[in-house]
Amino acid sequence: MPASLAEAIRRAVDPDRLVRTAMALIDAPSPTCQAGPAADCLASLLNDIGLAAERPVADWPVAPAVVARLASGRPGRTLQFHGHLDTVHLPFVPARCADGVIYGSGAADMKGGLAAAVEALRVLGELDALPAGAVMLTATDHHEGPWGDKRQLQALIRDRCYGDGVLIPEYLADRLPVAGRGLAIFSVLLERDGAKVHEVLAPAGTPDLVAAGADLVQRFGALNRRLATRQREHAGCDSVFVGQFTCGEIYNQYPTECRLAGTRRWVAPGQEQAVRGEFDATLAATAAATGARVTGDFVVYADAFTLDPQQPLVTAFQAAYSQVTGRQLPPGGKPFVDDGHTFAHQAGIPAITHGPAATGAHSLDEAVAVDELVRTAQVLALTAVAFGPSNEGTR
Ligand SMILES: [Zn+2]
Repeated sequence: MPASLAEAIRRAVDPDRLVRTAMALIDAPSPTCQAGPAADCLASLLNDIGLAAERPVADWPVAPAVVARLASGRPGRTLQFHGHLDTVHLPFVPARCADGVIYGSGAADMKGGLAAAVEALRVLGELDALPAGAVMLTATDHHEGPWGDKRQLQALIRDRCYGDGVLIPEYLADRLPVAGRGLAIFSVLLERDGAKVHEVLAPAGTPDLVAAGADLVQRFGALNRRLATRQREHAGCDSVFVGQFTCGEIYNQYPTECRLAGTRRWVAPGQEQAVRGEFDATLAATAAATGARVTGDFVVYADAFTLDPQQPLVTAFQAAYSQVTGRQLPPGGKPFVDDGHTFAHQAGIPAITHGPAATGAHSLDEAVAVDELVRTAQVLALTAVAFGPSNEGTR
């Protein structure tokens, strides 16, 4: 890319316009499953810059998704910017900007990042800067759990609405996430026959469900120690974690049920069946040892994530990142499960999570620096310019 074009793109990113875009999105409340107002706001922002926003229902009529495209008119790859419009279910905090920082619901997660994507599209369009290929922006509801089930993103992918690579401007800025763990969330119910009884009246041999639950916790602990040896660079290691344990009503009564819940994470893609098998075997061992009836629910949210550092998307991104910051982004792990996992597995495209270094996600104190939005918009726009030209076939 000519240095003059890179410089022109960097200079064209307008901080004031970015602030207005981010604040408009924040001020359209959009708790998960009710993101309609934010989707309407985004669509009208895109229409204002001459990009006719499409509104595919994508399995969620309450808040149709937002899709916009900017094409160079020359063959090449399509870079997708993708974000979620919904915010976690916490009291709404209106947008406020003070001393170069934007506050409010979704400022960090992830309306700030979406505003940066809109600004990148604006700049690319205004300067007619795309040498080849196209850029598309997609935004959806239904992301944040436990309220959403990601059905809208899955519907877009099912309907083949995605690019040749995707950049997700979530609040991760200090590393290039090349590996991330898969995630399952489990719950377990331990039960016995008979009613709740006073401890001195329980028939001999009555299964002790507190002890049975503790037995299961111990077995998960032992499994977790074995799993620590299953490691992968950047991703960390496999783990099983129990975060909830509920049992008993009063101190001198034999309970009839015990519940626990937790997570299972793994580093190697393709392990869903194997980890489910280990989980089932652990429950069966506790049942055999304690006499309790043990049943479990094991919901896989995402398989483990990998990104090939040799991908043209990574090359384009690193070139853009160093044009903006003077250095490359070091490879690292993705600490959370995000839409990049879904794109990688369901669409089969490379996915980079990179956005502003924002703070306070999933709290009432979300904040993002305007400088970080400017930097993100620059990196996004320059990545699109570098990624478009291709001598391979394109979709
Ligand atoms: Zn998010």
